[in-house]
Amino acid sequence: MFPQNVFPDTTAVDAAGGLVIGGCRALALAEEYGTPVYVLDEATLRNRCRSYRAEFERRCPGTRTLYASKAYINPALAQIFAEEGLGLDVVSGGELAVAAAAGFPLEQVYFHGNNKTPDELAYAVAQGIGRVVVDSFHELALLNRIAADAGQTQDILIRVSPGIDPHTHAYTTTGIIDSKFGFSIQTGDAAAAIRQALAAPHLNLRGLHFHLGSPIFELEPYAAATDLVLRFAAGFREEGLDLQEFSPGGGFAIAYTQDQEPPAIADYAETIVGTLQATCDELGMALPTLLIEPGRSIVGPAGVALYRIGAIKDIPGVRKYVSVDGGMGDNIRPALYQATYEVVSAGKVNRAATEKVTIAGKYCESGDVLASDIMLPEAEPGDIIAIPAAGAYCPSMASNYNLNPRPPIVLVKEGRSRLIRRRESYADLMLCDVP
Ligand SMILES: *Cc1c(COP(=O)(O)O)cnc(C)c1O
Repeated sequence: MFPQNVFPDTTAVDAAGGLVIGGCRALALAEEYGTPVYVLDEATLRNRCRSYRAEFERRCPGTRTLYASKAYINPALAQIFAEEGLGLDVVSGGELAVAAAAGFPLEQVYFHGNNKTPDELAYAVAQGIGRVVVDSFHELALLNRIAADAGQTQDILIRVSPGIDPHTHAYTTTGIIDSKFGFSIQTGDAAAAIRQALAAPHLNLRGLHFHLGSPIFELEPYAAATDLVLRFAAGFREEGLDLQEFSPGGGFAIAYTQDQEPPAIADYAETIVGTLQATCDELGMALPTLLIEPGRSIVGPAGVALYRIGAIKDIPGVRKYVSVDGGMGDNIRPALYQATYEVVSAGKVNRAATEKVTIAGKYCESGDVLASDIMLPEAEPGDIIAIPAAGAYCPSMASNYNLNPRPPIVLVKEGRSRLIRRRESYADLMLCDVP
């Protein structure tokens, strides 16, 4: 059965069994732009932005939805997010530069990261970034000095680590005690950081932030951490902590495979807002402005990767390798996190899946496998395959390993396609080399 739940909202199958996204035939897109190519469905992107805003703002007016750029950002997408009224999370000077280049309102940008460099912080302060989310004692002192040198007072949040395990992959778990991210509440670091921030003349502490990890399929970790961090914050009221902003981060899950059923956006909103209101009520605290930071769950479902099949190697009784013209250079997630995906033959959607195959990439690593032991209709060289739910953490983590050019990104909408990033050329690969 066609795994509709992991494809963009506009996905259809035409009479010939061809995949159609945003009114554009996948085979035609592969022909026009070459393969591999990442296709982003603009309607899905905007629907996700609007759903986050609607579900949270309905329950908690004034909630600010900040798109986590590291899932994927470029100037064209930044403009879409600005149009949808979102703010941005950035985690590097490079992501901030993209926001600036796109004319994104920089007072709506929050700067995260466990080791922002002095240059990055100075750049952020000079650009008038909205908030810096401070992650270490080193950064507290550094940022206070940089803001002083610039003759400014920088608005900040403090990232705390609540010590709550969201039950996801170890590489993407961030809010537990053994983590490089955030000030631990348990160890007393978070308390010390709040006191230092309140005493820093060039920092203005506006609130607290945490981020548990990603993707989080359970609701309970958000409720538990929200409650815990609010109670912790309430203990500093007498010392002058005015909790104007509160962020439970991002990490909202999406379905990568047909069987996965992540909570709906409304479920996350109900849990987070419900806990926020109940705990603030009980503590007699004014409701802070709620900030949420979805990345994966906005851009992920909008993206479909198209590849062309080349070599096929059948090892009788062992495995059939179907190799494609991309792989770990454009999607590192299977190799890095054992991530799993659905695979669809974009021109043979209506045909029965009769073969068990393993989709291998073209990179010189045996671990370069995009999907293991999946069912496809009989595969032939030249066929186009589609991997859905590929919008997040694929192009943004892409590399030039083996000096393969990184793929283009095409935005589709109502039967029209628009290139928002061209394919790299061989000349691009040598652009930074000094002979
Ligand atoms: C990565 C990250 C996010 C977004 O995570 P997603 O899983 O993409 O939603 C949000 N906030 C912070 C601080 C992050 O580091």
